[in-house]
Amino acid sequence: MLLFTPGPTPVLEAVRVAMSAPTIHHRTPEFEAIFKEARESLLKLFGMDEAVMIASSGTGAMEASIINICKSKVLTINAGKFGERFGKIAKAHGKELVELKYEWNTPASVEDVKKALAENSDVDTIAIQVCESAGGLRHPVEEIAKAVKEINSDIMVIADGITAVGVEPIDVTNIDALIAGSQKALMLPPGLAMVGLSNKAVERIGKGSGYYLNLASEISKQQKNTTAYTAATTLIIGLNKIFDLVEEFGGLDKLYSVTAARAKALNSALEAIGLKIYPATPAKAMATVIDENAEDIRKLLKTKYSVNVAGGQDHLKGKIFRINNMGLIESSDMLWVVNAIESALADLGRIEYSGVGAKVFSEVFASEIK
Ligand SMILES: *Cc1c(COP(=O)(O)O)cnc(C)c1O
Repeated sequence: MLLFTPGPTPVLEAVRVAMSAPTIHHRTPEFEAIFKEARESLLKLFGMDEAVMIASSGTGAMEASIINICKSKVLTINAGKFGERFGKIAKAHGKELVELKYEWNTPASVEDVKKALAENSDVDTIAIQVCESAGGLRHPVEEIAKAVKEINSDIMVIADGITAVGVEPIDVTNIDALIAGSQKALMLPPGLAMVGLSNKAVERIGKGSGYYLNLASEISKQQKNTTAYTAATTLIIGLNKIFDLVEEFGGLDKLYSVTAARAKALNSALEAIGLKIYPATPAKAMATVIDENAEDIRKLLKTKYSVNVAGGQDHLKGKIFRINNMGLIESSDMLWVVNAIESALADLGRIEYSGVGAKVFSEVFASEIK
């Protein structure tokens, strides 16, 4: 079965092998060297001043960012499950909340954010997804972050990049916290969350807040290549292996350009077989199709063509399906996925199979990649 869900993504064999070594103690020079390597790679990946790793799923890093960075009032962008989650976290910690709500295919607008900040001059933090995975939507995070800083450079910008970091280049000039998670673009098992931080964010964090998720204690420990509590040793070993594989592949820039080319080829191929792309601004991490037969297509993909793609949640349950495009995946596997979708549409009697999906995918990919 090909795992083509936008998280979890498949764990490559070389990574599984690297993680099969016996567990080592985390308070040893041996692990500190491994940790240092991971930390340096992460600083490069984020392109930011500081980076911390937390043993938790991605939501742990979202919570850590809110409790350590937001003083009292946060503006969140809710265009899907994950944007909604920032609001729920803020409420759980007694923060005041202003929420901009959008349909799940609609990116946040810079104007709406400006207006919300004008009406709420006491907002000290804004939290937004780079890619809102619920609908495969790319928010104009860089433009929003820039506008926020022009209004008040003390407002902190938290960006959830769990399906964007490692997928596409992100301009972090105006971003204070950028979040990543192991089981998405980094193709690791779940359980490791990472946050890139600006110097300004480190300053704002000060002595930190919370206990396990106190970022101040993690920053001071991790600068010394250790962690406040037991590190996710096995996952960090896997992380180093992933960075090695990215290097072998040709580096991050190459990964970004191949991912972008494949995203364009995938969306073009889906349209060529008569499907409709759901988000107005599709993210590179996944392709999202809205279709009345979404569930039938998904079922056929699984049972007849051995491809596992994700469905929708909440009001989009049964209405969309999402195909992963993150990570060091084989473009030839994607060709099979496209072909399987065209075949499934033919099985449903909607089209006559012609192979046009695979043809368009190959042509667009070849012309984008050169
Ligand atoms: C997957 C995901 C998360 C985190 O989910 P966890 O299950 O806690 O790892 C957060 N934000 C986005 C955009 C995601 O795709």
